Amino acid sequence: MKILAIGRNYADHAKEMKSSVPEEPIVFIKPDSAILRNNNPFFIPDFSQNVHYEVEIVVKIAKIGKNVEEKFAHRYYSEIALGIDFTARDIQQMCKEKGLPWEKAKGFDNSAAISEFFPISDFGDVQNLNFSLDLNQKRVQTGNTSEMIFTIDQLIAHVSKYFTLKIGDWIYTGTPSGVGKVSAGDRLLGKIEDRVLLDFDIK
Ligand code: MG
Repeated sequence: MKILAIGRNYADHAKEMKSSVPEEPIVFIKPDSAILRNNNPFFIPDFSQNVHYEVEIVVKIAKIGKNVEEKFAHRYYSEIALGIDFTARDIQQMCKEKGLPWEKAKGFDNSAAISEFFPISDFGDVQNLNFSLDLNQKRVQTGNTSEMIFTIDQLIAHVSKYFTLKIGDWIYTGTPSGVGKVSAGDRLLGKIEDRVLLDFDIK
């Protein structure tokens, strides 16, 4: 399976990164070795002094798709999860400055934390979902999927032009504002609506 991820899909996050709002989705990939499941702890890698959390809605692909039209994209996923796109911000900054790919900053081991997946029908309108992240019991990120610059259906249409979507692939759909650094001893708690889906320690 592959993990596709979208950069800067919420305008308030683009602003906090002092980046422009993209004209088309910014896409990167994490390898399957990045997966961190079951609320296992996240260990800060020794190559970064500035690892950030980014809470995101993640969709799981349910059907093989290539050049999917936006109007049919809803047929290609039926489950969502909550994820953290851990980002080595210092490495990413270096990559950006040198015009290098982001993989070392975005695709390192355990950088794709993921909750269990649930049927979309558990939640209602997938394009109007509240989600949030608490750091040490303080709310640091809140988002609503209605604020996405590119909707999930638009993302599926876009990424499937370049990458054949396969059953079981995931798409991290971007983070709202409020990203920040994690430190050893922190605890992250993430929710979709009132449901706690992520709750794990940083070590
Ligand atoms: Mg992200």
